[in-house]
Amino acid sequence: MATLALFGGTRAVPRQLADPQWPVVTAADEQAVLRTLRSGRLSATADGEPEIPGLEREFAELTGAAHCVAISSGTTALQLALAALDVPTGSEVPMPALSMNATALAVLAHGAKPVFVDIDPRTYTMDPILLAASVSARTGAVLPVHLHGLPADMEAINTVARRHGVPVIEDAAQAHGARYHGICAGVLGDAGCFSLHPSKNLPSCGEGGLVTTDSAELHARLIQLRLFGERLEPGCARTYVALRPGINGKLSPLEAAFTREQLRRFDEHAARREPGILALLDRLGRLPGIVVPAVPEGSRHAWHILRLRFEPAAMGIGDVPAGFVRRALHRVLRAEGVPVSRYQTTPLPAQPAFARPDDDEPVEKGFPVTAAVLEDSLCLQRRHLNPDSAPALAAYADGFEKVWSCLAVVGQMARSLASAR
Ligand SMILES: *Cc1c(COP(=O)(O)O)cnc(C)c1O
Repeated sequence: MATLALFGGTRAVPRQLADPQWPVVTAADEQAVLRTLRSGRLSATADGEPEIPGLEREFAELTGAAHCVAISSGTTALQLALAALDVPTGSEVPMPALSMNATALAVLAHGAKPVFVDIDPRTYTMDPILLAASVSARTGAVLPVHLHGLPADMEAINTVARRHGVPVIEDAAQAHGARYHGICAGVLGDAGCFSLHPSKNLPSCGEGGLVTTDSAELHARLIQLRLFGERLEPGCARTYVALRPGINGKLSPLEAAFTREQLRRFDEHAARREPGILALLDRLGRLPGIVVPAVPEGSRHAWHILRLRFEPAAMGIGDVPAGFVRRALHRVLRAEGVPVSRYQTTPLPAQPAFARPDDDEPVEKGFPVTAAVLEDSLCLQRRHLNPDSAPALAAYADGFEKVWSCLAVVGQMARSLASAR
């Protein structure tokens, strides 16, 4: 039996393979930023600034949306989409209990209330049946998240929203290029919100966001909201008169220029990274007790994050609670050079910013699926986005296979973690 690296054995993942970088920054990206810097058009409002309208046009083309508006971040994109859709302040906005805090923070910033809905245990996206139960006359909009790059069950979610006459805003921050029955994320609801954070599948060189919509009215409102509520008339000078309560939500042309260059390689990157990801998931799926991401019929996964669930019983260590097995695997795999990590450590409703003082039910009771998934899973993030990561991903698979040949040791570790509690 191999000796685990944690106990002095040789690492399964050689150091030079461990950390593929993302984003990949090329000379063309540098030239694009430099070209913009030298143009002197450093603000979105500079006369004749070409990068922001260019990015908007090209991303609309990629998604098939009629319109796209560039915004300063994904969080602000969500906040402005809520405002542009006139979601009443004080109204409730159902969203999944598993997401980044930004999804709920945007709702708070708009002055509405996040309402949390448990997830489906296979897709990790909002459970539409539980959504139906949480929608009421107080609901102002529904906010599904295409978590990790897999579209939420939009047909069922749209049906619930339509029945109640409320708009659907997609949090597609992790799902650029994902598809649901042939339609791109971002055009599956009334507005789609994307992030251009450097960790995402379509990166900027700083911060950034995009909103896609088929509605010309929404498009015009978003343009107004991101520019202090002002209206720009084509061919006329800026008036600096705020017509509605907007904010400064503009993207920088430097960021737009960089992202446009990344967008030129977006499809090629997606196509090049996928075989390595599928090969990794195929190997992991053969190991007993690893549940790899599901891709429902008709969906295309953008593979933003790879989440792996662990089933102690199938690993032959069913006597140990899943959380301790996950903790043991986390240590053992990292020592082998497999960069597993946790994405979110608690359901959103357990974060103090969203806790309701009158609600003292334990969060695990209210959101059992989210709690279980967070307890028994680990993620691979960012490295696999590098289009040349296949050799590293193959080495990660070697690491998992090595650890799976030592499950008795993992079981012992998990047991002692449990008893040391
Ligand atoms: C990254 C992310 C956001 C926020 O995007 P920023 O550009 O960082 O503001 C919102 N929702 C989800 C699901 C995200 O992953």
